[in-house]
Amino acid sequence: MKKSVEELKFPLKGKWLAMLAPSFIVDFPYPKIISQMKDLGFDKVMELTFGAKMINRDYHELLKNSKGLFISTACPGIVETIKSKNPSNIKNLIPIDSPMVATAKICRKNFPEYKIVFISPCNFKKIEAQKIKEVDFVITYSELRQLLDEHKLTNKKYPKKGILFDRFYNDYTKIFPLSGGLSKTAHMKQILKKKEMKVIDGIIEVQKFLESPDKEIKFLDCTFCKGGCIGGPFISSKLPIFLRKRKVLNYLKTAKKENIPENRKGLLQKAKGISFKSNYPNK
Ligand code: SF4
Repeated sequence: MKKSVEELKFPLKGKWLAMLAPSFIVDFPYPKIISQMKDLGFDKVMELTFGAKMINRDYHELLKNSKGLFISTACPGIVETIKSKNPSNIKNLIPIDSPMVATAKICRKNFPEYKIVFISPCNFKKIEAQKIKEVDFVITYSELRQLLDEHKLTNKKYPKKGILFDRFYNDYTKIFPLSGGLSKTAHMKQILKKKEMKVIDGIIEVQKFLESPDKEIKFLDCTFCKGGCIGGPFISSKLPIFLRKRKVLNYLKTAKKENIPENRKGLLQKAKGISFKSNYPNK
């Protein structure tokens, strides 16, 4: 059983590592959030985008020679709903890690002595974390906002330049929290015809599709929330989805101009030997 955030004492003491879900940019300022996390006691603060890149490779490989319907499993809202409401589709769930689990595996390999905390836009990630061993705690965006307030960090001034994530920068997968971000960054168009893939955001629409699926579809890239993770329930932003999307794209643009040292980038050798196969869909 994972411990709840109430059991953590902030500022944390010892070796703690935070992984920020890539939708963070909708609700938290970059790079200020990195300094705020450090003040909460996190020794290392990581981007999640490298894990997304690694699972993309596995998705691409799997779908290359696929037959039948495959459903994306990066969103635990989809996995849990299918398990409880559409169990006949469990066999179609893709047995590949979510970016959260993939990044946690990479962090465990490179920083084995650290406790790993995922910062999440939804509660479904807490359910997923209960069923895997790589993530020690999940803190939602609303819990994080509360912590920042309690520790008087929300309005604290920090340097605007020279602050970077500790590790695993990857640019193009920064669009992963957008609906269709997986298909796009896994380059599905290279291996599937347009009529063979479908992007659906919103669980009602996903379930409607599953009730009478189009037999030509081989890959369903879907998310529980409207707009993808940028529509997550613990995002406080009142901006419409298209403006949240713009925030993600602007962050991508800004980050591309940053001078990221080689050792902070998501390089393949950092994930060497790790398997991103998952049995979470069956748990
Ligand atoms: S789409 Fe919604 S439910 Fe799914 S992982 Fe993202 S925030 Fe959570």
